[in-house]
Amino acid sequence: MTPLIAITDLAIDYPNGIESVRALDGTSLAIGEGEAVALVGESGSGKSTLALALAGGLPASARRVGGDATWRGRSLFSMSADDRRAFRRAELGFVAQDPHGALDPTMRVGRQLLHVLERAPDRKNAEMLFEQHFARVGLRDPQRIARSYPHELSGGMAQRVGIALALANRPALLIADEPTAALDATLRQQILTLIRQLCRETGASLLLITHDLEAAETYVDRIAVMLRGRVVEDGAAARVFHRPTHDYTRSLLAS
Ligand code: ADP
Repeated sequence: MTPLIAITDLAIDYPNGIESVRALDGTSLAIGEGEAVALVGESGSGKSTLALALAGGLPASARRVGGDATWRGRSLFSMSADDRRAFRRAELGFVAQDPHGALDPTMRVGRQLLHVLERAPDRKNAEMLFEQHFARVGLRDPQRIARSYPHELSGGMAQRVGIALALANRPALLIADEPTAALDATLRQQILTLIRQLCRETGASLLLITHDLEAAETYVDRIAVMLRGRVVEDGAAARVFHRPTHDYTRSLLAS
């Protein structure tokens, strides 16, 4: 079966004066339909570059110097800019590290939801949508939440709103880039549990970027370990966690 996403030997450079940084150096990774995969590795290993490459969000200076990434068999790099935008809107959802940073500070979050849904419904319809999308991420009193500006929400609430927005259009893949880095420990579990549960319910695949191997083992099916722009270990979550084969994975576990 064709995986949802297949990244093959992808190499990406950030030119930087005379030298350039090779952020991805032959990365390969596949994600199946409905599969939850964690990408772990220390800072600078290329995790965000990989996520940006999938999303078509690399800075203009970044250059693909090799390899490919396909979506249901179709190369992302051969799509026109319009197709790429349409693909991104229809198929991808993002949960960011900083829950407040991902929201528009000048707009009530209810309006932001309607915006994502490309709906300008009448009041009754809007209330129904708020109920549906905010309640399912565990927010109580969805109508009050909808009237709030992001700064009026706590970090955990803002991240729940972020998840509601990311999943509003039922993406086929949710990319969550360190979604709990800004939250305290008890909230971390709740948010990761919520993300996993909603992906299961909607059938979305999940790419969870994290440096926390323990969280990865609990919340995903597979763990891919990245080191200097390459996936050096990739396997069932429990196997990678309990019986890592690569020295680097062992050192991550020890740290
Ligand atoms: P991670 O997400 O694992 O921390 P990144 O993908 O952010 O890793 O970074 C991989 C490498 O690419 C690092 O050496 C980083 O400094 C470099 N890099 C990332 N973004 C840029 C950029 N916009 N310009 C230049 N170098 C970058």
